[in-house]
Amino acid sequence: MAVKKIASDTLDFILESCRSSHPHEFGALLEADGDVITHIIYLPGTDATTQSVSINTWMLPNMRHAGTVHSHPSGIARPSGQDLIFFQTGEVNIIVGSPYTRKSWNAFDRGGNKIQIEIVDYEFQDEGLLDEDLMGEDDG
Ligand SMILES: [Zn+2]
Repeated sequence: MAVKKIASDTLDFILESCRSSHPHEFGALLEADGDVITHIIYLPGTDATTQSVSINTWMLPNMRHAGTVHSHPSGIARPSGQDLIFFQTGEVNIIVGSPYTRKSWNAFDRGGNKIQIEIVDYEFQDEGLLDEDLMGEDDG
């Protein structure tokens, strides 16, 4: 299923993470539930002290993900030449430019073409769901 949406809470979390990383670059992988991006996978060990470290971590093989997200502290939410190379690993690739607001990000497909991602409300499952599943109970 093509990813066309992002949960508003997830987007806000991404924007906040980009803000906290500033002036360094923030990078993570995206996880989707159906066609909605719902989670980010922050890669432990990501060294935010240089501009290009995220590229190495994104080369981690065979991590299943819907796409990538990273920030451009320069403020230009357009892919660089290097970005276009690792965009090929994910269906949706988000670049958030400074000042990291809902108006300062863009999404791109594998080929670096700008795509529209709709911001939607998404109801997150509570943390107890997994335990309930294991006990075979279903409260509906
Ligand atoms: Zn970039």
